[in-house]
This record gives sequence, C-alpha cells and structure tokens, in this order.
Amino acid sequence: QHPFAMASEKDAALASDSPTIFDKIINKEIPANVVYEDDKVLAFRDIAPQAPTHIVLIPKVKDGLTGLSKAEERHCEILGHLLYTAKVVAKQEGLEEGFRVVINDGPSGCQSVYHIHVHLLGGRQMSWPPG
Ligand code: C5P
Repeated sequence: QHPFAMASEKDAALASDSPTIFDKIINKEIPANVVYEDDKVLAFRDIAPQAPTHIVLIPKVKDGLTGLSKAEERHCEILGHLLYTAKVVAKQEGLEEGFRVVINDGPSGCQSVYHIHVHLLGGRQMSWPPG
C-alpha cells in the first residue's frame, strides 16, 4: 500500500471535497423528506431523528465547506443563511417553546457526513450539557 493511501473513506472525505450522501439528496438520486428549499439551502427530516422534530439543513453547493472548521471568509453568507433558515424552519415546524441547533465538527464532534449541515432539533425538552 502506498504510504499516503487514505486510511478510510472518512479520511478521504475530510481531506478532499469528495461527494457525500448529501449530494445524492441534492441531486434527487435518493429520496429525502424535504421541508424547505430555496436556491441555496435544502432542509429535510433526519432519517434517524433524535427528537420529535429533527431536520438537517445543508447548503446546495458545498464549496469546500466539509465542516465548520473549514470555513473561510467567503462562506459567511451561506453560514448566515443556514442559521437564518433554521429559524424559519423552526417557526414552520411550530417550535414556539424553543429548539436547538447543532453543528457537529470532526471526529470529536461526532460528525459523520462531511458536507456542512445544521441540525435543528425540537419538540421535546433538551438537556445540557449535550452528550
Ligand atoms: O452531524 P452528523 O454528520 O453526524 O449528521 C449527519 C446526519 O445526517 C445524521 O443525523 C444522519 O442521521 C443524517 N442522515 C440523513 N439521511 C441520510 C444520511 C444521513 O438524514 N441519507
């Protein structure tokens, strides 16, 4: 094996801008329960919900933003748009009592898909600190 061979698919995804399962959702190659869409952002119900409402918001164009730790100045607009859209979708979902937004980053942050995404969770009492 080449000494610089990638140890795993996740390492490859981390190191490059390779496609993820979210590209397949964006391209409608696999189905998703979409709750909101505009020209820049797609929001769909998480397939493994951790709360009565659990929605994942993603930018349609990744532009190198595999995770928040890769953010550059040029990403400020899409990052703001993602957060603002989380609020719009929270209202749409009727989460008047409150909600939580989460961005997992990297192995220690429990990130599993390397295409930046915001989790919107609600419909139950959250606890703190998170696990
Ligand atoms: O933050 P993290 O990378 O772990 O989140 C990825 C999320 O994407 C998970 O909550 C997972 O359930 C969700 N997912 C999904 N549909 C897929 C693949 C993953 O909702 N097809």
